[in-house]
Amino acid sequence: MTPDELQQGGRRGLAIILSSPSGAGKSTMARRLMQWDPTLSFSVSATTRAPRPGEVEGRDYYFTDRDTFGRWIIDGAMLEHAEVFGNHYGSPRAPVEQALSDGRDVIFDIDWQGGQQIRNSSLGRDVVSIFILPPSIRELERRLRERGQDAPDVIAGRMAKSEAEISHWAEYDYVLVNDDMDTCETRLRTILTAERLRRDRQPWLTEFARGLNEEFRRREDDDL
Ligand code: ADP
Ligand code: 5GP
Repeated sequence: MTPDELQQGGRRGLAIILSSPSGAGKSTMARRLMQWDPTLSFSVSATTRAPRPGEVEGRDYYFTDRDTFGRWIIDGAMLEHAEVFGNHYGSPRAPVEQALSDGRDVIFDIDWQGGQQIRNSSLGRDVVSIFILPPSIRELERRLRERGQDAPDVIAGRMAKSEAEISHWAEYDYVLVNDDMDTCETRLRTILTAERLRRDRQPWLTEFARGLNEEFRRREDDDL
């Protein structure tokens, strides 16, 4: 088999966790990464918060009520869940497990509490966690206002929580300052490429190296 054929199968997908204070740019970066690599899956979260203008059910979130959300937790249907800004958010387990076992990499846009739960779960070895920092708090606030999707009191609430979210930056494998969008995207692509190239994520290499050895043996036989 050629290296390309060998590389097709074998590895489990990566769980790529993106966290940041609200407004630092993780949704933008997740979108850009998925445009760059359409094989990436996005873990669509469930939430009890109301949809923002333009948000689409099943694409941005599964919008639900507290009772249903509570039932999903009891049924073990959530991989992780947390209360953020007074609403409940969680990652449905089944689509994530299916994607990872099919070898597809999954992006999570979740807060530090969800990040901790996934890192400590059975997925631990498949997790790559990335924290995105804003270049300044002033710029963070400007971005939240400019996004124009939240009322002033909601923005104030998110700003008040951002210090607590930022305090978890050192728990992540990688930390990026999202000053320039293109630079940040390039760095994310680099992280993803390097993580995919780790030896333990390329199980096909064992067979490939065996093939190289056999080629040596054949050359020795031909020389006899
Ligand atoms: P989050 O998902 O972290 O809440 P978003 O991705 O929604 O944040 O970004 C918040 C706003 O900031 C959006 O309007 C987005 O276009 C903008 N933004 C993101 N990254 C940058 C950047 N590097 N420079 C300027 N604006 C940015
Ligand atoms: P927003 O309301 O701006 O879409 O999201 C608010 C916060 O909730 C963000 O920090 C986002 O990353 C986080 N969040 C979204 N989905 C989930 C989830 O499924 N689990 C957890 N723990 N946090 C989430």
